[in-house]
Amino acid sequence: MPLVHVAIVGAGIIGLATALELRSRGATITLIDPAPGLGASHAAAGMLAPSAETTWGQGKLNALLSASARAYPEFIDAVQLASGVRPAFIQNSTLVVAAQPADREALVELIDLQDSLGLPVKRLLGTEARALEPALAANIAGAVLCPDDHQVDPRSLITILLEALKENLLVEPVAGLLRVGERTIGVRTGSGTNIHADQVLLATGMGQIPGVPRLPIRPVYGEILRVQGSAEHPLLRHTVRGIVHRRPVYLVPRADGSLVLGASSREDGDARVNLGEVTTLLENARRLVPGIVDTTLNEVIARARPTTFDDIPLLGRLDEGLVISTGYSRHGVLLTPLGARLGAQLLLGEPFDAQLAGIVDPHRLSSQDFGIARTHL
Ligand SMILES: Cc1cc2nc3c(=O)[nH]c(=O)nc-3n(C[C@H](O)[C@H](O)[C@H](O)COP(=O)(O)OP(=O)(O)OC[C@H]3O[C@@H](n4cnc5c(N)ncnc54)[C@H](O)[C@@H]3O)c2cc1C
Repeated sequence: MPLVHVAIVGAGIIGLATALELRSRGATITLIDPAPGLGASHAAAGMLAPSAETTWGQGKLNALLSASARAYPEFIDAVQLASGVRPAFIQNSTLVVAAQPADREALVELIDLQDSLGLPVKRLLGTEARALEPALAANIAGAVLCPDDHQVDPRSLITILLEALKENLLVEPVAGLLRVGERTIGVRTGSGTNIHADQVLLATGMGQIPGVPRLPIRPVYGEILRVQGSAEHPLLRHTVRGIVHRRPVYLVPRADGSLVLGASSREDGDARVNLGEVTTLLENARRLVPGIVDTTLNEVIARARPTTFDDIPLLGRLDEGLVISTGYSRHGVLLTPLGARLGAQLLLGEPFDAQLAGIVDPHRLSSQDFGIARTHL
């Protein structure tokens, strides 16, 4: 079989993981990104929570989340095999907690849905939850344990992938696509270099390529904090997701005693950190886990989640030489194994799971949403 060369635009978690998958299948790759790993993937908490994030009316998305969660252990092993380093993947389960009686309704709705899908969850009284996590507030109104919802540190994953792929990385923007008729044949970089490729993958998250019509993705900004607690006496062992005054907040404990505290959700187009959102997150986190006030601040940032109208990614072929893999919304880290495998299969013309591919197919959008030629689809 001739060697296939793939140009990958965007070295976020999706572009990087797809690159590794392609390389393991024998393709050669060129990754191009002016700020590798510093987009949405740099902010993400890394919750792998198909159960806690189950949503009514989102059966297709739920199916994707579960499929990708099942693939995670194998994906982590593959990254370790390729790089010699194991990413910080922790199977520590998740507690979803209702702060007060008024929040119990949302918790009961979630549990009903989880039950109807046969997800393995365990209802807990407030006292039982506190027995598992003594740092929880004394007056919480109830909880559910999601034993299969785990976490990975996306920054550890990205650092390992970038190191493993550094020989294939160009640190500059892509300024346009090279096209012959209706087929994409490569990319032009910001410095004017033409890179010819058998296939091009656009994994640009919110990023825009000049001359390529805007994809139907909107920015949903999130503030997120990283705080430092004690490694010897960790504040939490499980990931804790809370519903406080019907607003979500989460705390994700890492092995070094630090915690990720997130995240807000706003669509005001402002990329800066909003202090009102940070204040609400801190107040709600304190309501659930009062000891959070004894930690110190490591970082607070905001990033945009590249979001589609149905929260489902856009992953599919746009012309004979062009595939897109973007719009991973709030689930991109969880969906990485699935997105990387399916993306690589589509790019290399290998057999793929048609049911999952049908869910993410960009052609579920109306034809006006795409300006790129779609003649060969
Ligand atoms: C606050 C927050 C918390 C989150 N928490 C979670 C979580 O717990 N679990 C989860 O599953 N998901 C989470 N997410 C969602 C997740 O972060 C995203 O879905 C995921 O990171 C998307 O990855 P990506 O590679 O598609 O995009 P990105 O990481 O944004 O990468 C896109 C890359 O493309 C590059 N690029 C853009 N334009 C160009 C160009 N013209 N030329 C070359 N390169 C270009 C950018 O520089 C960037 O590096 C969270 C998101 C946020 C904001």
